[in-house]
Amino acid sequence: MAVTPDADVVIVGGGVAGLVAARELGRAGRRVTVLEARDRLGGRVWTDHRLGRDLEMGGTWLHWTQPHVWAEITRYGLGVTRGPRAETAYWLAGGEVRTGSLRDFMDLIDPGMRRLLADTMDLIPRPWDPVAHEGLAAADAWSVRDRLDALGLSVEEYQANEAAWVGHFNAPLDEGAYVGALRWTAASAGHWHLMHEASAVFRLTDGTRALVDALAADSGAEIRTGAPVRAVEHGGPEARVHLADGTQVTAGAVVVTLPQNILDSVAFTPPLGPEKRAAAREGTASRGVKLWIRVRGPLAPFFAYSSGAHALSVVRTEYLGEDDAVLVAFGADARRMRTDDVEAVRDALRVWRDDLEVLEVTGHDWMADPYAGETWLMQRPGQLTSYHRGLRRREGLLHYAGSDNADLWAGFVDGAVESGLRVAREITGPPG
Ligand SMILES: Cc1cc2nc3c(=O)[nH]c(=O)nc-3n(C[C@H](O)[C@H](O)[C@H](O)COP(=O)(O)OP(=O)(O)OC[C@H]3O[C@@H](n4cnc5c(N)ncnc54)[C@H](O)[C@@H]3O)c2cc1C
Repeated sequence: MAVTPDADVVIVGGGVAGLVAARELGRAGRRVTVLEARDRLGGRVWTDHRLGRDLEMGGTWLHWTQPHVWAEITRYGLGVTRGPRAETAYWLAGGEVRTGSLRDFMDLIDPGMRRLLADTMDLIPRPWDPVAHEGLAAADAWSVRDRLDALGLSVEEYQANEAAWVGHFNAPLDEGAYVGALRWTAASAGHWHLMHEASAVFRLTDGTRALVDALAADSGAEIRTGAPVRAVEHGGPEARVHLADGTQVTAGAVVVTLPQNILDSVAFTPPLGPEKRAAAREGTASRGVKLWIRVRGPLAPFFAYSSGAHALSVVRTEYLGEDDAVLVAFGADARRMRTDDVEAVRDALRVWRDDLEVLEVTGHDWMADPYAGETWLMQRPGQLTSYHRGLRRREGLLHYAGSDNADLWAGFVDGAVESGLRVAREITGPPG
């Protein structure tokens, strides 16, 4: 006699992708269990109270050109705000520090950006179907560095463009795929200014926590935190999900939302398909660091860019207080900058300014985090065209979601929402 499984669907991971899938499946009448390894939900979005503010350790900025996450903002009535507009920008020209307005800096990088991204809408004419164009494979052989080098920019322009891309990629530019830059820009209708704004300006007033809480409350699922999944057997009529504590949950289907770098941290039997295994083995290019830095104030808002060779490539004011300010900073390589090293941060800031008194530093080392293993997705050359379709391909009872395999804004919160919607439809079939 057939035994009813414990759940219709088990979702491995309670990040945004997992929670959106849980809500959609719950609304479609499925019995859903979410198994989340951490003692909190949200995954790579995490609002935590540090340095006297609610700060985002992970994903932060979103935009109305990101249709999936914006629909969630509308649905739950979430407020959107922005950090202060920078009055001064600092950048480097060789060993010299240059100062101007933010507009001056944007004007400096504009010609390089336009030339670098000129083929965007030819190569990715439909950003929601990113690998449709046959010519993309040839372009996917290049790194961003290859294409920047080919432009013949002056030292000042080169460094400025490089720093802007290191900020976007969170990775050394010789490891990040050029088509990654094209995807972001294609999703912004080919306009690099819009892409820049979409990825770095507007954030939720009450933090990403507000989105995570709303999704969890709305899901109707059984949600278990502190429940790391160790193995999944899916060869039979139902899947058997093994937790680290030795217990099991059986299910008619399993949604896997693990980031690309840790896809193989769970033992799957039968094993993952070849593209998934290869992508996990190679790993993504992103291996950077995001820091929050409290400095003595008051301070006029500023923006600073250095280069990929510096421990911090991008720094800017995000919160202004009466007697302090909180800066957000990014570096290309987490191994070059710990998230608690006040001295190292002080040195890194001296590249532009020696008048900043660093009081405290914080952040989360996502690269060392066993449940993330990466920051936001930036693929290596060749990975988009080799693995995109395989990464999201259903394998028997297993379905794959996660921002890393989204079509439109992969690597963003928007992509996580998109993938949760897609995987729920994959399981329930189209509505109606
Ligand atoms: C520093 C940083 C800055 C970012 N900035 C932005 C930004 O400004 N804007 C933007 O849109 N995006 C940004 N992102 C990216 C964005 O946060 C992610 O793309 C998105 O949150 C990913 O959601 P997800 O659900 O696909 O994956 P995740 O959030 O990684 O969810 C996967 C879940 O699976 C859980 N898990 C892992 N292993 C197991 C296991 N064995 N058993 C059970 N559960 C497990 C994890 O704990 C996690 O909760 C940033 C990310 C980082 C790290």
